[in-house]
Amino acid sequence: MRNRLVTLSLVFLLALTLVPGPAAGAAAKVKIAKEKQAVLDWLARPETVERFGKISDSIWQYAELGLQEFRSSKLLADTLEEAGFTVERDLAGMPTCFVATYGSGKPVIGILGEFDALPMLSQKGRVPKQDPVVEGAPGHGCGHNTMCTASAAAAIAVKEAMAAHNIKGTIKVFGSPAEEIVASRPYMIRAGLFEGVDAVIDNHSSSGFGTEYGVGGNALFSTIFTFKGKTAHAAGAPWVGRSALDAVEIMNVATNYLREHLPLSHRLHYVVIDGGEAPNVVPDKARVWYYVRNTDERLEDMYKRVVDCAKAGALAAGVELASMQVVSAIHQRHANKAAAELFQKNIELVGMPAWSEEEHAFAKALQKELGAEQKGMPLAVDKLEAPRGGQFTGGGSSDVGDVTLIAPTATIGFPGLAPGAIGHHWSAVACFYGSTAWKGLNAGAKAIAASTIDLLTKPEELAKLRKEFDEYGKTHPYKPFLPADANPPNDLNKELMDKYRGLLEKALEIK
Ligand SMILES: [Zn+2]
Repeated sequence: MRNRLVTLSLVFLLALTLVPGPAAGAAAKVKIAKEKQAVLDWLARPETVERFGKISDSIWQYAELGLQEFRSSKLLADTLEEAGFTVERDLAGMPTCFVATYGSGKPVIGILGEFDALPMLSQKGRVPKQDPVVEGAPGHGCGHNTMCTASAAAAIAVKEAMAAHNIKGTIKVFGSPAEEIVASRPYMIRAGLFEGVDAVIDNHSSSGFGTEYGVGGNALFSTIFTFKGKTAHAAGAPWVGRSALDAVEIMNVATNYLREHLPLSHRLHYVVIDGGEAPNVVPDKARVWYYVRNTDERLEDMYKRVVDCAKAGALAAGVELASMQVVSAIHQRHANKAAAELFQKNIELVGMPAWSEEEHAFAKALQKELGAEQKGMPLAVDKLEAPRGGQFTGGGSSDVGDVTLIAPTATIGFPGLAPGAIGHHWSAVACFYGSTAWKGLNAGAKAIAASTIDLLTKPEELAKLRKEFDEYGKTHPYKPFLPADANPPNDLNKELMDKYRGLLEKALEIK
């Protein structure tokens, strides 16, 4: 119903050619260029909303972990290829990485897209109580199923407009695996995939509809520390053995003491991924996986101290620190202000989707379950605000950070998540399936597509982004944290995905 309303209203608006920008106040008038109107109309068609909604739902069902996204990546790459894009697959050493290109020459506008899930979050779609599809299986708790889908929808809409209106330039969709382990973008940059790209549009699912600029999130080293000792009968002759698990435990104690002496901008967490197999055998092998997070300026110093803790653990336990595998290492986000200002105008033009009674009711039921304010789905788009000043107290990370340092980039956050639902939690998985996810990703695709049209057709807008970026680069040149000898962790999630893929396919009757 909503889709027909949108189509009708767009036809009406097209006839007028002058429409009020929803957030610009009644007095202001926004003239929509015919190229931009074409992408908005294409995306507003009910069949488009349904087509990409179903792709998003399929990826939600596959729930594939980072670098195991074989079905998700193929579905998206095939969709773009069938629409007329040239698709290169298996890039930068990652089988699920792809780049889809349309057009030729300058300018080159990049659109990022992610599609990986998170472990342990399996949950039935649009059920406002914890209820897994398969207990312990992965789930889309960050909405990445909606994200590369929004990118693909936007790119195809732009491609149609480029062909119909003879727009020059190139668009590239960067199919980026494994964002949840921040493991693709530094490798994609290292492989040269972003060379010649003039500006990049990133996107992320959200409970609001907005964008931001400035420095955000934490830089991160993701590293697996492996210790090797000697087995022995744990009761008969323990003095013969040297426990690798002891080294892990001593390292963890040391890093937990280290916390007190780190600036507030840090985050530090770990899981023991291998700690022996039976209490009566002294473990000769143990592994602990660390996320070490801080600002760009403080990260390397903090990481060095964590490595010292690992060495101390090995020394005390009398075992060997056999390897330190850097899974990935990334920068903070340095989002471009001119890009965010341009994206904001298009977000305001698109406006918040009109949610149905059922959609508000689902959000309220979920909010009630979580003890959050029962306010339903959001009603208006966010304002673009200046970055918060004061002491930076740390936060999450995204490997888009590295991209922001090699091309002017900002992120469009699009709706779908009920406010109060929790990221990386079953409640988020419940939201990213079905109607609100479909509408949210469609609104996101419109803002991405409209912004791409601006960057392709208005050289003066692109010049603003480039000028700011070139100026910023003088004091922030890109120096990857990723060590030159690091390799994509293609098998890191293999065992988990092998365990759950068949169970998910059976439970959801995926063919
Ligand atoms: Zn995410």
